[in-house]
Amino acid sequence: MKLGGMWRDAIKALVQGPSTQKYPFERLKTPERFRSKLTWDLTNCTGCGLCMKDCPANAIEVVTLDRKAKRFVFRYRVDHCTFCGQCVESCNKNCLELPEDDWELATTNRQDFEVYYGNEADVQIVLDGEAETGA
Ligand code: SF4
Ligand code: SF4
Repeated sequence: MKLGGMWRDAIKALVQGPSTQKYPFERLKTPERFRSKLTWDLTNCTGCGLCMKDCPANAIEVVTLDRKAKRFVFRYRVDHCTFCGQCVESCNKNCLELPEDDWELATTNRQDFEVYYGNEADVQIVLDGEAETGA
């Protein structure tokens, strides 16, 4: 960088203040199309498993406990997910969403990356290893 440019930047920083953000005390607004942690809404899910089949990162598992009763559990591996959005495209029931605002995913506990969606009792059955995998 030329000396003149450097001085110009230094003076600009003195007048305008730093350009950096004081994260985590200050947060910029997340861009609208930003993709963060996947969410799943059971309401319209048919358990078809397309999301699971189409996920290139093997981040999804749909466990069917009772198809007629619509008892599905959705296992999501956040640490596998590349946020590509393929599952959202594949689901024709609009059950899946990659919202822009749940992106602070850092953790020291690996278990935090394993997320289960579904009703509490059904999730417990899956966690206890008493459910068969499939869609
Ligand atoms: S966003 Fe992509 S990688 Fe993540 S769960 Fe969906 S299909 Fe898989
Ligand atoms: S693609 Fe949609 S409807 Fe099919 S199992 Fe996945 S979330 Fe459910």
